[in-house]
Amino acid sequence: MGKRHVAIIGSGPAGYYAAEAAQKQFGDDVCVDVFDCLPVPYGLIRTGVAPDHQSIKGVSRRYEKTALTENVRFVGNVLIGKDVSIAELQELYDAVILATGAPKDRELGINGQDLKNVYGSAAFVGWYNGHPQFADLDPDLSGSTAVVIGMGNVALDAARILAKTPAEFEGSDIVSHALESLGKSKIERIILLGRRGPHQIMMTPKELGELGELQKASPHVHLGDLPEEGEDAMLEPGLRKSVSLLRQFAAIPEHIRAEKPVAIEFAFFAQPVELLGDGKVEEVVIEQTELQRGRAVGTGRREKLKADLVISCIGYRSVPIPGVPFDERAGRFANDDGRILPGLYCVGWAKRGPSGTIGTNRPDGFGCIERVAEDMESGVLGRGGKNGRKGFDALAEKRGLQVVTFRDWKKIEEAEEKAAREGAPREKFVDIEEMIRAKS
Ligand code: NAP
Repeated sequence: MGKRHVAIIGSGPAGYYAAEAAQKQFGDDVCVDVFDCLPVPYGLIRTGVAPDHQSIKGVSRRYEKTALTENVRFVGNVLIGKDVSIAELQELYDAVILATGAPKDRELGINGQDLKNVYGSAAFVGWYNGHPQFADLDPDLSGSTAVVIGMGNVALDAARILAKTPAEFEGSDIVSHALESLGKSKIERIILLGRRGPHQIMMTPKELGELGELQKASPHVHLGDLPEEGEDAMLEPGLRKSVSLLRQFAAIPEHIRAEKPVAIEFAFFAQPVELLGDGKVEEVVIEQTELQRGRAVGTGRREKLKADLVISCIGYRSVPIPGVPFDERAGRFANDDGRILPGLYCVGWAKRGPSGTIGTNRPDGFGCIERVAEDMESGVLGRGGKNGRKGFDALAEKRGLQVVTFRDWKKIEEAEEKAAREGAPREKFVDIEEMIRAKS
């Protein structure tokens, strides 16, 4: 067998860990093309990880090391499923790996979800992170109350970003349009809505702890909402730590809390059942819940909460690609431990759904390449001899695709770094055309 040709669709953590694994597994015998629909790499590292979490974003240096090796190349600005089909890629590459993540919001599925100023987290996070698709979102922050639905780390990101002062974004790469808009925000009450209780939060301690260190905002937890302290002993250590932070928040004396003008309130056992408003959202109808075998079940008791802005942070779905089996219920590609069809694989959130940290994708990427190696060994992937990147380049030329290379990206990156505010690492381009112009 000659060179093995691998196409990875998606240049986020799952994609680059899989590329790194392919290199380790096959050495010089492999050519890896990492595709992205944007002209810029790193997926969620660039457009998902919060701009004030720069140390997490630092992992992209590891991906760059992989990207700069001879047998891996970045192929940006190509939308697989539209510019080139999966079937065409499978003709050219021995293995095609979907690392496309889960970029679509899970729907609330309640009346009023389409009212103005109701956003899913993909849109809201995309807005402050400069994702070209959401750069124009322009959420209205002129009201007093924001309701953030969900009790995971994304809900924490949304609440924290809404609560920070402009000075607290120093050193971050929050895009200027968001910084400006947040600087004028009138929001003084942020309600985190959880359909289950304090023992069921999905927030990790480090991220939850940040709410206790904000300049103008203070977390509000009612002591009476927390279970007996002795019951914390049965929790796994991470969750136990998070719950003990909730206890610390509940113990903050009222006069200390009152020193900060913005309240981040935790509302437990409350599920949204309807959003009300005349064109734009004004209220959330919540139903009190109780736990039955671990699940939130409505009790029928309802009340209305004022809401000038609603951000739903209840998870994500992958986007189907024509010709690829999709599990509608789970919102990801139908797969058996990463195998979709012979020669077609998935990895990361596209495989397992939207859970885990950036680091979870490393073993996932390595596991995926093990599967590819097994299938090559067993002959499932045929006898090789495919055209790989040479074939793709010919197809791209025939179609007139404007492919962005890693070298082009480095020029875009340089322009972004030059345009940075003082103290910021970069000012991201939020427009695809601008990105393309910056490379030339
Ligand atoms: P998540 O951790 O799964 O949390 C989703 C939250 O939404 C849960 O509290 C869930 O409640 C709630 N929810 C789901 N459906 C709902 C509904 N219909 N109505 C009301 N509430 C609903 O998801 P995530 O926050 O989107 O995070 C995704 C992954 O990225 C996680 O693994 C997270 O840790 C990771 N992440 C990490 C960081 C970081 O480390 N800094 C930052 C952001 C994201 P139930 O539990 O009751 O279902």
